[in-house]
Amino acid sequence: MSRAGLKPGVVSGKDYLTLVKACKDGGYALPAVNVVGTNSINSVLEAARNNKSDVIVQLSNGGAEFYAGKGMPDDFQAKVLGAVSAAQHVHLLAEHYGVCVILHTDHANRALIPWVEAMVDHGEKHFKETGRPLFSSHMLDLSADDIDFNLSESARLLKRMAPLGMSIEIELGVTGGEEDGVGSDDDIGADNPHLYTQPEDCLRAYEILQPIGHFTLAASFGNVHGVYKPGNVKLRPEILKNSQELVQKTHNTGKNPLDLVFHGGSGSEKAKISESLTYGVFKMNIDTDTQFAFSEAVGKYVFENEKAFKHQIDPDDGTPYKKQYDPRKWLREGEKYMAKRLDEAFADLGAVGKSLALKKTDDLAA
Ligand SMILES: [Zn+2]
Repeated sequence: MSRAGLKPGVVSGKDYLTLVKACKDGGYALPAVNVVGTNSINSVLEAARNNKSDVIVQLSNGGAEFYAGKGMPDDFQAKVLGAVSAAQHVHLLAEHYGVCVILHTDHANRALIPWVEAMVDHGEKHFKETGRPLFSSHMLDLSADDIDFNLSESARLLKRMAPLGMSIEIELGVTGGEEDGVGSDDDIGADNPHLYTQPEDCLRAYEILQPIGHFTLAASFGNVHGVYKPGNVKLRPEILKNSQELVQKTHNTGKNPLDLVFHGGSGSEKAKISESLTYGVFKMNIDTDTQFAFSEAVGKYVFENEKAFKHQIDPDDGTPYKKQYDPRKWLREGEKYMAKRLDEAFADLGAVGKSLALKKTDDLAA
């Protein structure tokens, strides 16, 4: 496959569409990793570079708030400025890692519409200054509301975002489980019909949003946030196929006209991941597994260096422990393991070696 040759760094507008198309044409998808600070962002960039793949960096509202600092007095301001600060960090660094990065924000329910609007305000300001938006895309998740409201609000926001070269991600049907306060664990169960999107709803979304701008669709096919006991989750990727075929047939488009997103990638069966890729999934969200990888590594380090987390100097023999308790030591362990878990995600999604970044892949190995 020929390489489109995009400039490394944050992509938006035409470059973003090139990247999405390359994924779908090439039968691979990019991991979209939830981040909460510079440690997790840098870990994602490192993993993308190691795998010679492009990547999606995303923040939930809670992740953005944490990025700004839990001590900030105004929670809402923290959610907005944390997202802006994280975006600026990625804009500055991503190109130096030599890969293309899609910058995105995760689930925003009805109560969080003002959060998305405030980020779009910042996006417009950034666009005036640089000719590019701050984020590549935002998600608006009104799947808990009725579909008329869901699609009319999505259309309203997309009208503001499309002129900046931004895309919107929407959700139809419900991703089971809870992600950062949005959704709940109560709906987990293989027989819950809400966990499966109706193809007719996907067609409606296409007809309303496609004329306005670019949108991506988180369609539910039994996927859930979090990792649960086997048997509680029944993935049915054929629902994605049925939705694609209905839009294709109705509007006489090419194959897989919808750009689909797979939420709740953590803990999913590998065969179902592969199958979903053939139905136009270009993005798979991962959070739970990378959270665990980071924490597992830090925990291991702390247990192995227990004394250094209780004493600056050994009370018996006077050994100084500065080298062990230096936060860079244990945070780095977290970063390394998170990047290692992402190696697995890049491989599962067929993304290894597929970066469209202009740099020759040989240069990336250095
Ligand atoms: Zn999700």
